[in-house]
Amino acid sequence: MYLKGVGPVRGKLLEDELGIATLRDLLYTAPRRYIDRRRVYRISELSEDMPDVQVAGRFLRFTHEGEGARRRLSALFTDGQSMMQVVWFNRIKQIAEAYTPGTTYLLLGKPGLFKGTWSMAHPEVEPYDPLKPPEGLRGVYPLTETLRRRGITPRTIPALVHCVLASRARINDSLPRPILEKYKMMTLHDALHQIHCPSSSGELKAAQERLKFEELFYLQLHILRYARVRNRRLRGHVFSHVGTHFNTFYSDVLPFSLTGAQKRVLREIREDTRSGLQMNRLLQGDVGSGKTMVAFMSMLLAVDNGLQACLLAPTEILATQHYETLCEWCEQLGLSVRLLTGSTRLRARREIDEGLTNGDIQILVGTHAVIEDRVQFHNLGMAVIDEQHRFGVAQRARIWAKNNIPPHVLVMTATPIPRTLAMTLYGDLQVSVIDELPPGRKPVTTVLRYDSGRMAMWQGVGRELKAGRQVYVVVPLISENEKLSLRSLEECYDAVCEIFPHYTVARVHGRMKPAEKDFQMQLFVSGKAQILVATTVIEVGVNVPNASVMVIENAERFGLSQLHQLRGRVGRGADKSYCILMTHEKISATTRKRLEIMTSTTDGFIIAEADMHMRGPGDMEGTQQSGLALNLRHASLATDGQILELAREAAEGVLNANPVIDRRTADSITLKGPAIQLADSDIALLAGELQLRFANDRDWSIIS
Ligand code: ADP
Ligand code: MG
Repeated sequence: MYLKGVGPVRGKLLEDELGIATLRDLLYTAPRRYIDRRRVYRISELSEDMPDVQVAGRFLRFTHEGEGARRRLSALFTDGQSMMQVVWFNRIKQIAEAYTPGTTYLLLGKPGLFKGTWSMAHPEVEPYDPLKPPEGLRGVYPLTETLRRRGITPRTIPALVHCVLASRARINDSLPRPILEKYKMMTLHDALHQIHCPSSSGELKAAQERLKFEELFYLQLHILRYARVRNRRLRGHVFSHVGTHFNTFYSDVLPFSLTGAQKRVLREIREDTRSGLQMNRLLQGDVGSGKTMVAFMSMLLAVDNGLQACLLAPTEILATQHYETLCEWCEQLGLSVRLLTGSTRLRARREIDEGLTNGDIQILVGTHAVIEDRVQFHNLGMAVIDEQHRFGVAQRARIWAKNNIPPHVLVMTATPIPRTLAMTLYGDLQVSVIDELPPGRKPVTTVLRYDSGRMAMWQGVGRELKAGRQVYVVVPLISENEKLSLRSLEECYDAVCEIFPHYTVARVHGRMKPAEKDFQMQLFVSGKAQILVATTVIEVGVNVPNASVMVIENAERFGLSQLHQLRGRVGRGADKSYCILMTHEKISATTRKRLEIMTSTTDGFIIAEADMHMRGPGDMEGTQQSGLALNLRHASLATDGQILELAREAAEGVLNANPVIDRRTADSITLKGPAIQLADSDIALLAGELQLRFANDRDWSIIS
């Protein structure tokens, strides 16, 4: 507000539109991109998707057009070869007087094409001498429509920045000197100068790196610090020994040998659960990698140490399937296992409640119903959550409250989370990865097919059906319009029934009553139905080894990770399996490229990385639902993985040197520190009981 050329009105405007309230905010507002001043375009080289460009030439004549509010000034502009139209909607009088026909000017603006003629509205104009062309990089700052209307031009912010930088105000560095030196980072003073007025593209890059590093460093410092505080505080059950159930299961019941990766993860869990601290572990493993087995054996560790265990699944279908699998094993071990879901009858519920509180039930499998406060355990020692992103943060937190000593928590996900994202979102969690599939799996062949090849596609499906195989057909959920997605499901169902009149077709969708859904699923699981037409409700966990084909309609509507999950439903038996992505001919080049990633790899991590690169981390499946939205100003989790690793190492270094960074020191670090701009919603670490709120970049607090 006190800066020359601002004042209260503009100050408010800048704060509302760009979040610039202080000089520091202003300096930290980096240009969105840079224009190479040496590059001057010919009009004939322009194309519509270009951002701002420079064009040199002369104005031929100015014409006033329109009346009243629609008045505008229009000029013909030529670079000697082609013509362009330039228009202004305000400050018309000054402009008409300022520029003279015949003089050579340099125009900077965004080119547009209207009825075959190039045009530019409100370009920046300066005299141009081809013998002394401008040099260097020019920043282009964010500007909103409102700002533009209220008279803030692309020149305003650079002028303000200049004013501050020229004032020689002291810029205290926000990073400690040893860190600057160790990581060879530019000082804040230099970085801020370079970011606004780069002296070369090399210096600019170094400045950008420094600002990204700083942002990620403070983010990691917060996350790691909380992890440590929590680990200090939360004692966990000690599973002192591996007992008879575990050993009997391992030697007598286990129908196959564990993969190396399964063994490794079990060892990690074993170490955690005997340490005396509460375990909080994320288990990532591709679909079909055998997470359920790891979960079950972890639960046996709890049972052998006299404690109860539970396994939570996001859907009733999945919970039931887990229950059936576990029943088989538990029977042979003489353990008592029960299922609790929303549709469990009252009488059974009472029995379960009683069995849980008196400790008779050793293992409980269930859905959200388990989380209800009513459900109390005698002594819950291990909670496994399957497919974490369907469970909200708050729900996870409620599991903790079920005991005085919180249970060990194992969260399992088949959505591979790229390393950089995991480091940031789940910085407080231990991460285990099952990176090996059980032997004998044949990779699923994935193909992309267009509408024109539909009949041939159905013929191929027919051959598989004839060979006794089962087939999934998935249609997308159209979230904005449930009626529409239901209709597309029905249409697809009718079409499939017509093409395959001799087979039984089942169908499921999210809007069905649970009983109806179960009935339809059961038709398919039991093999009575050979084809299942479904929306994405089948996405998680359904296991039908005889199914060998997955047809995905309108594949372009799905995210890559989701497609990968769906594909995981086939290839579970010994036979060759196929995933057919159906789309229409008119998809864009980017969409085609995206879908081709699916046909080129079956590695979930490569797919997840690619997904993140194409959509940005904010869009990653799972991060939205879990309420984790990061709003980083400089860094990008998709592309700045290396800087993130350095920042994390640096943050760990600080914490190791100051094991008891207390609230006050951490505060003062933040105070000196830069913007860690997190979305105004809370950032909640996965474990759920810890929530940090960064109310603004200087002020943060623990909510609970
Ligand atoms: P997911 O990780 O997707 O949850 P599951 O736990 O459902 O995978 O396992 C998929 C299938 O692989 C199941 O039928 C399971 O019995 C089988 N399986 C798990 N581990 C092994 C193993 N080590 N060897 C052979 N088959 C295994
Ligand atoms: Mg599973």
